[in-house]
Amino acid sequence: MGEEATADRQDTDEERPDQDGRPQPSKRTDGPDLAEVSNWEIVTHYFDDAAGRLGMGDDVAAVLKSSYREVQVQIPIVRDDGKLQVFSGYRVQHNGARGPYKGGIRFHPEVDLDEIRALASLMTWKTAVAGIPYGGAKGGVNCPAEEMSDREKEAVARSFMDKIEKVLGPNRDIPAPDVNTNAQTMAWLMDEYGKLHGYTPSIVTGKPIALEGSLGRESATGRGLVYMFEEAAKDAGIEPADVRFVVQGYGNVGSWAARILEELGATLIGASDAYGAILDEGGIDAAKLAEHVKEGGKVCEFDASQQVSHDDLFEVECDVLIPAALGGMIHERNADKIRTQILLEGANSPTTPKADQILADNGVHVIPDVMANAGGVIVSYFEWVQNMQHMRWEEDDVNTRLRKIMQRAYRHVKEKAEDREIPLRPAAYELGIERVLDASRTRGYIPKG
Ligand code: NAD
Repeated sequence: MGEEATADRQDTDEERPDQDGRPQPSKRTDGPDLAEVSNWEIVTHYFDDAAGRLGMGDDVAAVLKSSYREVQVQIPIVRDDGKLQVFSGYRVQHNGARGPYKGGIRFHPEVDLDEIRALASLMTWKTAVAGIPYGGAKGGVNCPAEEMSDREKEAVARSFMDKIEKVLGPNRDIPAPDVNTNAQTMAWLMDEYGKLHGYTPSIVTGKPIALEGSLGRESATGRGLVYMFEEAAKDAGIEPADVRFVVQGYGNVGSWAARILEELGATLIGASDAYGAILDEGGIDAAKLAEHVKEGGKVCEFDASQQVSHDDLFEVECDVLIPAALGGMIHERNADKIRTQILLEGANSPTTPKADQILADNGVHVIPDVMANAGGVIVSYFEWVQNMQHMRWEEDDVNTRLRKIMQRAYRHVKEKAEDREIPLRPAAYELGIERVLDASRTRGYIPKG
C-alpha cells in the first residue's frame, strides 16, 4: 500500500488488514460495505492532487508526503485470564514545521502503521488549515479495546507511554484521545509520563477536568462540526431549524454534533453505531439517545419507528449526513445512493476519492474532515495553552474562541475554493500544504523555491 489508489476495493465488511496489510472483512459487526481503500491511499490521493495543482516538484512533495519519524513498539500485557499477549503500538510524527506534533491515540484491532501514518499526515494539513501552531502526528495500539477491561486498557496505556515517552514532550509531541480512548486514558498516560518527568499536564490533552482538562473539550469536535455547518448553511441559504439529519457512528463526535444541532432546532431522523441503525422520520431525541448510549445501550435498542441496516441508513433522504465512525465508509458502491444535500465529515477520511467524485457529480456539497472536524484539536490547543499557564477558561470562553477559529478556517478555505474554482476539500488541502511549505522554507528545512 502507499501507492496512489487505482481502484476502490470490493470488501464487504469492516476493514481489517491481512498479512500483506490489505483491508479484510471484520467479523465484529453485521455492518455495511465499509472501507474500500486504505486511509493512507485516501490522504495520499488528496495530497498528490493538491501538490500537482500547486506545481510542486517531486522532491519537495516527497519530503512533505513522508513522515518525519515513525516509532513502532511492542506492548506486552497480562490479560485478565492470566495469559500474556503482545500488541503493536505506533506513534508517527508527520511534520513539525508549524509547531509541536499533535494527534490522537486510538486503540482498535485494525490499527496498523499505514493507517497511523495517514492520520498523522491528515493532522498536519488540519492544524495548518485551522491556523493553530501545531504539526501533525497520530498514534495507536492494535488492541481490541471494546472487549477489554479497564485494567487491561490501563496496562496498554501505561506500557505504550513507557515505550514512546522519549519522542514526546509538551514542546515536542502532545497526544490526545481518538477512537476507543478517552479522558481516562489520557489520565493514565499523563500519570505514567509524570513518573519520569514530574507533574506535566501539558503532555496530553483531552484530560479529565480534575486533571487540568479543558471545559468544552469533550464536545469540541461535534460542536466545531456544527459551527462550520452553520457557516456553510448561511452560504447555501439553509435554515438550521429546518434541517433533517442522519448520523453514522453515534459516539463522541456523532452524538455531540447531534445534540448541538438539535439545540438549533434541527431534527435527527437516523443514527447508527457498530451494531445497527435506526430511522424515525418523526424525529429521534438526540440527547436521550446520547444518554442511552452513555449508559451502555446500543443504538438499535433505542425506541424508534424502524430498525434499518447500515446500508439503508446511507440511503435516507436528508439535508445533512454526518459520517462519524471510521475511515473509508463512503465508497464507490454506496456513494451514488447517498441522498443528502450536505455531507459533513466528522470522521477522519470517511470518503474515498472515487466516492468524492461521485458525490460531486451528484451535487452533494462536501464539508471535508480536514476542515470540519478540527474542533477537537483546536480545543486541545486551548487545553495545552491553559496547562502551560495552569489556568482555566470558562466554557463559554472556550466555545466562543472555537467558533471564531472554525469561522476563520471556513472563510479562508471558501475564499481559496472560489479563487481556484475548486471544491472545499482540494481548496483546504492546497491551503494547508501552502502554509506548511511556507513554514518549512522559512525555517530552512526545505530550500526556498
Ligand atoms: P467513538 O469511538 O466515540 O465513536 C465511534 C462510533 O462509531 C461508535 O458509536 C461506534 O459504535 C461507531 N461505529 C463503528 N463502526 C461502525 C460501523 N461500521 N457503522 C456505524 N457505526 C460504527 O469515536 P470518536 O472519537 O467519536 O471518533 C469518530 C471518528 O471521528 C473517527 O474517525 C475519529 O478519528 C474522528 N475524529 C475524532 C475526534 C475526537 O475529538 N474524538 C476528532 C477528530 C476526528
